[in-house]
Amino acid sequence: MSRTNLRERIKQGLFLLDGAMGTQLIASGIEVGKCNDYLNIESPDIVSNIHKAYLQAGSDAILTNTFGANKFALARHGIAEEVERINTTGAKIARQAAGRDRYVLGDIGPSGDFLKPLGDLEPKDLKDAFVQQAKALSAGGVDGFIIETMTALDEAAIAIEAVKLVCGDLPVFASFAFDHAGGDYRTMMGLDVKSAVSKALSLGIDAVGFNCGSATLDEYIELAEKFVLEIMVLEKIRATSDPTSLKLRRAGERRVTIYAEPNAGKPELVDGKAVYNVSPEDFALAAEKIHSLGVNIVGGCCGTTPEHIAAVSKKLRVGNE
Ligand SMILES: [Zn+2]
Repeated sequence: MSRTNLRERIKQGLFLLDGAMGTQLIASGIEVGKCNDYLNIESPDIVSNIHKAYLQAGSDAILTNTFGANKFALARHGIAEEVERINTTGAKIARQAAGRDRYVLGDIGPSGDFLKPLGDLEPKDLKDAFVQQAKALSAGGVDGFIIETMTALDEAAIAIEAVKLVCGDLPVFASFAFDHAGGDYRTMMGLDVKSAVSKALSLGIDAVGFNCGSATLDEYIELAEKFVLEIMVLEKIRATSDPTSLKLRRAGERRVTIYAEPNAGKPELVDGKAVYNVSPEDFALAAEKIHSLGVNIVGGCCGTTPEHIAAVSKKLRVGNE
């Protein structure tokens, strides 16, 4: 049986993403600080085995190992000219692991630089870089895109526009990394949930959410609630001027799907290294609460493993779907 249209599928109920790639690479013996994305060329078997472990754990979709495979991030490893090869190969590795019935999302992370006037980056150059990455991922056979760990609204918007420009027919997810501080949730660049959600909605993406950042599991649950509330408010506003939106809400469907990829809790620093101590069972409990709030798409970020994803799948699927 081959997979249904991704856009339809994410509205149908729980859609389970994978967990961390970086954590698993380190567990496979890859040195910290190495260019993870280049492993698509250098050690495709290691990458493929991690994909397979997540698929076996129950992930409906896996993310390509291309988080840092834009021109600017690769330039820091001296391999800016490898964008096409790394992304296309990364997409092919994931496609092969996922087969015909699971999905592959092309993973796009931030450039790591700041746009003008804060930094030196020109919007046009940034857009070109994301266009280049999206084209290469698409050539490798992705089903959609996930723009992750964004902290700046302008960069996220440029990434979304770039992907839509070259792959307008494929679904796009975008998420921001929020930290919990002083009772509020903001990205490193000061962006709040409301601004992130309203911008993402106005750009017409398929799913919006949060990943990574710094929060406890309880705080991630609260953050999920904020997303749900903001989207409800925004869609009500739209409903007054757009009757189809009201119909969609009555049908129990939102225009945009919400997704959550929490870390395995808040990291503790041990010998200068971030350690995530949340067990798969506790992670699954939090995922259950997040899902019950109306978040269809759930996965894990830093510190989550195939065991965490398997625990979520077991908890949320048995008797439910
Ligand atoms: Zn993370």
